[in-house]
Amino acid sequence: MPSQSVDVIVLGAGIVGVSAALALQARGRSVALVDRLQEAAGETSFGNSGIVQTEGVLPYVFPRAVGEVARAAFNRDPRAHMRYGALPSIAPAIWRYFQASTQAKQHATGKVMAPLMFAAAAEHLKLAKDAGASALLRSGGWIKAYRSARGKDLAQAEVEELKPFGVKAIFLDRAGLTELEPHVGEKAIGGVHYAEPLSTSDPAKLIQSYAALFVQRGGRMERGDALSLEPSASGWMVTTEKGRLAARDVVIALGPWSDELARRFGLRLPFFVKRGYHMHYEAKGNAGLTRPVLDLERGYLVTPMARGLRLTTGAEFGRRDDPPSPAHLERVEPYARELFPIGARKDSAPWLGRRPCLPDMRPIIGPFPGKPGLWLDFGHHHLGLTLGPITGRLLAELVTGETPFVDPAPFKAERFGA
Ligand SMILES: Cc1cc2nc3c(=O)[nH]c(=O)nc-3n(C[C@H](O)[C@H](O)[C@H](O)COP(=O)(O)OP(=O)(O)OC[C@H]3O[C@@H](n4cnc5c(N)ncnc54)[C@H](O)[C@@H]3O)c2cc1C
Repeated sequence: MPSQSVDVIVLGAGIVGVSAALALQARGRSVALVDRLQEAAGETSFGNSGIVQTEGVLPYVFPRAVGEVARAAFNRDPRAHMRYGALPSIAPAIWRYFQASTQAKQHATGKVMAPLMFAAAAEHLKLAKDAGASALLRSGGWIKAYRSARGKDLAQAEVEELKPFGVKAIFLDRAGLTELEPHVGEKAIGGVHYAEPLSTSDPAKLIQSYAALFVQRGGRMERGDALSLEPSASGWMVTTEKGRLAARDVVIALGPWSDELARRFGLRLPFFVKRGYHMHYEAKGNAGLTRPVLDLERGYLVTPMARGLRLTTGAEFGRRDDPPSPAHLERVEPYARELFPIGARKDSAPWLGRRPCLPDMRPIIGPFPGKPGLWLDFGHHHLGLTLGPITGRLLAELVTGETPFVDPAPFKAERFGA
């Protein structure tokens, strides 16, 4: 017999699960948030770059030009890193990612993502205000800095591509760049300033404040293994440290681990992860940054965090559970020392996170095909911090039968033939 029951159990207390739990609670549902960790935001949501990246309407795509593919394949492009040992198992997913990376498909995704992206900052601001955490969200946008005429062309092309989606950008020459960020090294000759996005100096603290708001509003946070999920007479059941917990509805929001549970119930998806690392550094002297800055041509980012200057790497293609490797960070760190005022490393080892991805770079939001009461909310790839709250709203609208604020069809699992 179940010891307790609630209306909805949300599995996974990263930004996606916490946000879904809050949105369901706001619609009058009793909700329990279950995670194997003690605290919220202990995994991917912990160590990201902290940008509420509202300009990121067009998803990152796999290179299609032969030269670029070759550079990526031979680890000559520091923006990505390939773990060759993992290739036999990840090749099918990368192939599907490659196939979904045409400009037409990228733009189709841009079109369906735009309404979510443009509403994303407002959802964060509202949650942060209610959680008493507004100070953790800063305005001022972020900058993509370039080193060469080629980099400038790339930046310009991207700005042109984003214009039809309503994304605004400001071009900076070297003087404009140093006016905003005086300590960016002279190898950066200019940049593009996306002024509207928000960023945070501590993603984990921000999300933990959202989780505290959920508890303050009567939500339950429990430790338990999501893989204990099983059907029950009244819906679904999960075993937690405090006993068995039943609910009519269950949301799978396990980020990079979601696929494992989905497969147990018969749903096979072309799911993969893009791994990424971070490292904190002392700032040199009185130098620093006031907002995130990307080294566009080298593909890593440096951002001011509460703990120090945080460098985050681009995508490492490997298996989710492969051990961490220092290789990608070591490839980009020398470039970062050219451009940013970073001193000694502050962490004993690089932190590793895993971006949960689907080939079309859209999350899956909606019902689990053929399993009434089971819901999917994962695959937020490079943009989970940005999209967590707004996709939480969409998911909650679907669960409670409200009219969704956007068409949910492009986010259904069925698009992969499920
Ligand atoms: C280097 C890097 C930089 C990034 N920068 C940005 C950025 O600037 N802006 C942005 O929007 N996004 C960014 N992202 C992406 C973003 O961090 C992710 O998309 C987001 O954190 C995914 O959140 P999630 O809640 O889906 O997953 P997670 O945060 O991983 O949460 C999943 C939860 O499930 C729990 N769990 C797993 N298995 C079980 C189980 N069996 N039982 C119980 N619980 C379980 C885990 O403990 C975890 O708490 C970045 C990612 C990386 C790696």
